[in-house]
Amino acid sequence: MKEPLLVPTDKGLYVPPGDFYIDPIRRVPRAVITHAHSDHARRGSRVYLCSMSTVPLLRGRLGNVAVQSLPWGEKLTIGEVQVSFHPAGHILGSAQIRLEYRGYVMLVTGDFKCDADPTAEAWEAVQAHAVLSECTFGLPVYRWPDPVGVIAEIAAWWEACQRKKYRAIFLAYSLGKAQRILASLPDLGPRYVHPSVVRMNQAYEAQGIRLGRWQPLPKDGQVEAGAFILLPPQVRPERLQAFAPYEVAEASGWLLLRKHRRTPALHQAFVLSDHADFYQLVRCLEATGAERFYFTHGYREAMQTYFAAKGYASYVWPDGYSDRRTLFAGAP
Ligand SMILES: [Zn+2]
Repeated sequence: MKEPLLVPTDKGLYVPPGDFYIDPIRRVPRAVITHAHSDHARRGSRVYLCSMSTVPLLRGRLGNVAVQSLPWGEKLTIGEVQVSFHPAGHILGSAQIRLEYRGYVMLVTGDFKCDADPTAEAWEAVQAHAVLSECTFGLPVYRWPDPVGVIAEIAAWWEACQRKKYRAIFLAYSLGKAQRILASLPDLGPRYVHPSVVRMNQAYEAQGIRLGRWQPLPKDGQVEAGAFILLPPQVRPERLQAFAPYEVAEASGWLLLRKHRRTPALHQAFVLSDHADFYQLVRCLEATGAERFYFTHGYREAMQTYFAAKGYASYVWPDGYSDRRTLFAGAP
């Protein structure tokens, strides 16, 4: 009798035959981490295992924690499970986690995208019997425009700000989106970044990722007219007054839908996401050759229904541990 390979628990995704957790939500003895975003890599676990390029980002966020890392594709046996990391294309170091147990292969996608991004390793298809996938944007309404065109739109907006002698304030997450924007945007003038972005930029550059010219935002916030200023989205609106005259823009997948646009606070909304859109989700998941799909993080019911209609064994992965008796993933 085989044990289940993956179980939802109050501490997060648990892998019983390996006795470890994937992206645990509480402190655990052994945490296997898909990527360094704060909702996946949390403080307090005894030992972390992650991809090699995640290590500096994890240390940048969590301090000097105990970390073991694996090169892409290399297998490590933990208990009875072989674990390996495969690029997810979401941010630098982001991994899909492949679990193999007695010949059965399960893939945990973590956050992923297939769009080209000069700051992240390109997503790779991994063959598996079953997949547990995120589906943040798992509705057909989410279809991303070509990111090259979106970057050109952002550059045009910055140039328009320069002509008006306005400062161009761009809101972006300090890990991932900020570096993608810096690396992709043409060099049109001085670019300043918030202190929270500085450390992450340095961790990217230390790994050979070219971000182009940038400098830390001076403490007094005094920068020339026409400058590009990268700030985290949670910045308080009243702080922006110091940069007047200015325009504010943001890039996110959510901004595809008008209801998510925070007008009038946002002058420009660009659709650029670090997650797969619905069509990428379907294409990438089918590329695994899997027959079973479990959906978490997002439009789980919609994806479950869509994949069931396509003839796959398809399940909604429970949020908490309360219904853990009703579902686990493993060899059927
Ligand atoms: Zn993420």
